[in-house]
Amino acid sequence: MFELPSPPEAPATINAERKDGILVLPVAEDSQTWAGILGFIFPGATRSFDDLKTLQVVLRAADKYGMDAVIKGAEGVLMLPKFLEEHPLGVYAIACSYRLEAAARSAARRSLRKPLLGSVGESSVELAGCLGAAVYRLFAYYAQCGDKAVAALDENEIHNLDSVWLDCDTCSNEDEIIMPLFQRDYPVTQWWGAYARRLCHLLKERPCGDTVRDLSIASPFLKIARNCSYCEDRAEEDVIEFIQAYADLVDKAVSEVELYMGKSEGPGR
Ligand SMILES: [Zn+2]
Repeated sequence: MFELPSPPEAPATINAERKDGILVLPVAEDSQTWAGILGFIFPGATRSFDDLKTLQVVLRAADKYGMDAVIKGAEGVLMLPKFLEEHPLGVYAIACSYRLEAAARSAARRSLRKPLLGSVGESSVELAGCLGAAVYRLFAYYAQCGDKAVAALDENEIHNLDSVWLDCDTCSNEDEIIMPLFQRDYPVTQWWGAYARRLCHLLKERPCGDTVRDLSIASPFLKIARNCSYCEDRAEEDVIEFIQAYADLVDKAVSEVELYMGKSEGPGR
């Protein structure tokens, strides 16, 4: 702030305000904003923020006065669970605006638990200050994660040849679905094939292990499985075993996708 160029010397005709002989520098920001800024500067000072909007105002002021240390210090606040868990898109938008990469990556990863389009309205204020390129990169990240999550269904390690949908000769005699399993086209019972397709569709919207762990997705298909005398006894147990293995693999696959942060574009604030 003190490295910024000083205004020209005030003409003598202008009665500049002084206090204790020191020139008073008028600032546009209110005392709450300055308290927020000083909280990052003075050791031991408290710097608690109730909401992202207040933090965003402090960051805007810190940027105006060239206080890079304050901006960097705010990254830890952005990554607090109360913000990262509850408002990941808001954190992402602010983090991208000030090129806080760790916070942006964590927020993008956390945001995967909700469909992106459905979540935009919840963080519209923060996203309004975000460059379109940053929003585009988040859409691209979702798409990449979705592709990886769906591709993981083909991995041998999550399938057990004894699973009832691979083993049933009763309902699969009437209707079966061909799925890409074991690196080839593989016949499965219709109820499980329909479940897997539904799961893949939802994984494109919410590419994370929690989507797989959502038992409510499997419930209607397990109900259908009860119509088969062979599947009914084992379907639930086998599906739960599959869910555990697939969910972990989806989390691993998604964790390997890196959010592209762009190069040296300016902040969108
Ligand atoms: Zn069956």
